[in-house]
Amino acid sequence: MPRPRSSDSLCRVIAIANQKGGVGKTTTAVNLSAALGLLGYKTTLIDIDPQGNASTGLGIDRSSRGCGSYGLLAGTRDFSDIARPTAVNGLSIVPAEPDLAGAEVELVNLQDRESRLKSALQSARQKITGQDYIFIDCPPSLNLLSVNALVASDSVIIPLQSEFLALEGLTQVTNTIEIIRRKLNPELSLNGILLTMMDRRNNLCEQVEADVRGFFGASVYRNVVPRNVRLSEAPSHGMPIFLYEPKSAGAVAYHEIANEFLARDTALVTQPRKVPQPT
Ligand code: ADP
Ligand code: MG
Repeated sequence: MPRPRSSDSLCRVIAIANQKGGVGKTTTAVNLSAALGLLGYKTTLIDIDPQGNASTGLGIDRSSRGCGSYGLLAGTRDFSDIARPTAVNGLSIVPAEPDLAGAEVELVNLQDRESRLKSALQSARQKITGQDYIFIDCPPSLNLLSVNALVASDSVIIPLQSEFLALEGLTQVTNTIEIIRRKLNPELSLNGILLTMMDRRNNLCEQVEADVRGFFGASVYRNVVPRNVRLSEAPSHGMPIFLYEPKSAGAVAYHEIANEFLARDTALVTQPRKVPQPT
């Protein structure tokens, strides 16, 4: 498939964030970036969660992490030196090395502590020709690592698990994004809220979907991620779903989500979408 983006268009940076753990951030980061790589877009996933689940999910186990996103935050490594290829054509990864766990404490004392990643990626955006998308898989808290991701990004995707009280957690993350937009990164827009682990047989899931769509309208992805056991098995084989089980419902969904992502991102370039705030 030809790349619709022109080769001289700027690389776009997208954070995948939600302060709640276990909502499908990493699963989305791995499989959405893999889908885009397979569609012919030059894509890199940066893992800034010290747990390193995205790194594991793309086949880089703990012992072989070497230099990764800590070097970017510390300013000691260049993006192009530490991004490495994965088994998916077109997809590279900057893994999370164990040092990242201490980064938050160290960052507090550094100058421009909120914009370390932004500075590291600015040079990457200029230097790397043909890089289309950089995704950042955030840790499950709104700490300095997540703030760095949101400050470095053009837009954010919020994965949301379809469960009881989902909306309450969502308000917390949209408030934080709005504060960052006002104070640190006026360019930050919302790419979309993505409902994950949808079980159509469960009435509660459907109710949550109706509530979230009622409140956030067009900000919510039309496509949802179904609950699919293949998606949860793939990371232990170090593979995105497209290599592990390409015919699974999870693979089909993330392929559709990648197409919806592209349409949403193209629309955002001309018309940024602010994060809706509760009235
Ligand atoms: P987060 O990064 O937000 O903490 P993960 O993507 O790691 O969340 O997902 C949490 C757990 O749920 C993981 O074990 C993952 O494999 C599983 N999981 C995520 N999405 C799905 C899905 N659509 N269907 C089934 N299991 C899923
Ligand atoms: Mg995760």
